[in-house]
Amino acid sequence: MADQVKHWRVTYNDIHNLIRKTTPKIAQEFNPDLLIAIGGGGFFPARVMRTFLREQTVNKALQIQAIGLSLYEPVEGGTVEQIGNEVIRTQWLSQPGKLLLGKRNLIVDEVDDTRKTLHYALSELKKDVELELLSYPESERGALRSATSFAIFVVHNKLKDKLADLPAGTPYFSGEDVGDVWLDYPWEAINIEQHDRDAATDKATL
Ligand code: 5GP
Repeated sequence: MADQVKHWRVTYNDIHNLIRKTTPKIAQEFNPDLLIAIGGGGFFPARVMRTFLREQTVNKALQIQAIGLSLYEPVEGGTVEQIGNEVIRTQWLSQPGKLLLGKRNLIVDEVDDTRKTLHYALSELKKDVELELLSYPESERGALRSATSFAIFVVHNKLKDKLADLPAGTPYFSGEDVGDVWLDYPWEAINIEQHDRDAATDKATL
């Protein structure tokens, strides 16, 4: 992918194929039980990934659950802490701890840019698990905690300095590593035929 391109158009087929290419590794190395899609960009990738995961894993319902997060948009007069720094929950799981406990949970999003969103999602979901564990006898918590794990899949990872870190050892999968470009996703396009033509032109100028 060319770093000199400021906007990079990505087509549905590009995304589908990146997911197809990456899923065998995810199935083999993490083998998720549940997909947690971060809305809205994670919805389409999670649904496509389920198709390929179901091909490769046996006896798995592979439910997709959704959470909604957005980065705080700075407003005029906002304090320094507010400006561009906060992740806002717009949607969360009902009974998250019960849902996540004892499962291998794959968090899915379309792009890892500053990493703030992924960091927030992972740390909050882990908090939900810890809360749920409190309702179990102490003697059972260790085993339940060990049976619960999280991994991350993004279609695109931007190779840049990140503003947040993920805990060491968190399994992390990306369909493609890209430069610090702005990715135009197909679900944002008003005219998808034009978007696809422009995407083809982008590729031809590589
Ligand atoms: P973060 O900075 O927390 O990693 O990403 C926050 C969100 O910003 C992403 O989930 C995505 O919605 C949006 N975003 C970041 N980079 C891009 C990009 O290149 N293209 C588009 N369309 N959205 C992006």
